[in-house]
Amino acid sequence: MTDILRVLLVGNGGREHAISWKLAQSPRIEQIYVVPGNGGTASSAKTTNVPSIKQEDFPALVEFAKEKNINLLVPGPEAPLVDGIVDYFEKHGDKSVRSFGPSEAAARMEGSKTFSKDFMKRNNIPTAAYENFSDFDKATAYLDSIQHNVVIKASGLAAGKGVIIPQTKEEAHAALKDIMLDREFGTAGDEVVIEEFLEGDELSILTFSDGTTIKSLPPAQDHKRIGDGDTGPNTGGMGTYAPTRIAPPEIIDAVHKDILQPTVDGMKKEGYTFKGVLFTGLMMTKQGPKVLEYNVRFGDPETQSLLALMESDLAEVMVACAEGRLSEVDVKVGNKSAATVVVAAGGYPGSYAKGTVMTLDQVPEDVVLFHAGTSLTDSTLKTAGGRVIASTATAATLEEAVAKAYKGVDCIHFEGMQYRKDIAGRALKK
Ligand code: AMP
Repeated sequence: MTDILRVLLVGNGGREHAISWKLAQSPRIEQIYVVPGNGGTASSAKTTNVPSIKQEDFPALVEFAKEKNINLLVPGPEAPLVDGIVDYFEKHGDKSVRSFGPSEAAARMEGSKTFSKDFMKRNNIPTAAYENFSDFDKATAYLDSIQHNVVIKASGLAAGKGVIIPQTKEEAHAALKDIMLDREFGTAGDEVVIEEFLEGDELSILTFSDGTTIKSLPPAQDHKRIGDGDTGPNTGGMGTYAPTRIAPPEIIDAVHKDILQPTVDGMKKEGYTFKGVLFTGLMMTKQGPKVLEYNVRFGDPETQSLLALMESDLAEVMVACAEGRLSEVDVKVGNKSAATVVVAAGGYPGSYAKGTVMTLDQVPEDVVLFHAGTSLTDSTLKTAGGRVIASTATAATLEEAVAKAYKGVDCIHFEGMQYRKDIAGRALKK
């Protein structure tokens, strides 16, 4: 297929800026409309922001797609996928629209942790031992009956905040009460998973899937905590690097054989084929790799590092996934390393200022600034979110990529900016 593509990209984060940046490099892409987009997508080639439509307004999105002759839909975040945007377009949209993303049924792998844990159990996919609960008293009794350390997870979508790692039994009980009785995460806490605490190093793998064939990008590592040395509260992610060498290639091959392919095969067998990109969070435990979670979309900020490394045409790969032809295209990644440093607003992940004026200098070669929480009005760039912008660099070695990414950070200026100084620090020490 060599048709010209007009894309509707849903989202406004750093992930969406990276996706639009990579898509724009494809000769097949004519135009990318980003709903609503951010300050970065507002000023990119072939890209137009559409702030007037709400991400969750599927009828308006379908209407807009018809008006602009959209033929590729790319939902960035999980919420529209879990709410069934792909099914909605299939039912109400023009038949020429292909969707790069899973159906509502397949998106349950992220939308419901109890669902994905039961899926793993049925399909013999290694994961932490667990029990699901919808009854507070039963959950409490279970907690009292066990000795090992636990992790408590609200089952539904909670913007990355629904996972609690209690240090003591009292904290565990308090977490259960917060989630199940006091409804800290709303209906996301209708059910909880109590699972075994796993020890080891974490990595993430992003895997393209057309429902049958899978092709992955190299393993990446995120930095979740706000502070250097992995201290302070959790965030949406303060930086990444790839490839990570936490796991040798033979272990990554085994992850494909024992975890990723069985996941996609199991979904197909159970009647909800996975099309799109599957993000698998893994813990490398002493007993081998175990799945921490699935996400049904690109990770943020892993995507910034990984798409910077990807040599193949992302538009070709997305269309091939949508059309069930992934076996026909390459997902090529060069022999380089990439690093991404996220710059956040002062106070994040607590309360922070918005609307702070920013300036950006010209970045060095092989460095890209991917905007996340920014807005551009009348050529003034301002902060508009907690994670504001990220500097991504590629280079022959990880060390150089990290050094260059920090050179990119030096080009970002706004009051109160904060970022981690140790992205990939542990990997470099090793
Ligand atoms: P999740 O959203 O399920 O990936 O959880 C968010 C984060 O919590 C993960 O990236 C891990 O750092 C941590 N986590 C989740 N489950 C476990 C577990 N069973 N053991 C240890 N840490 C975990």
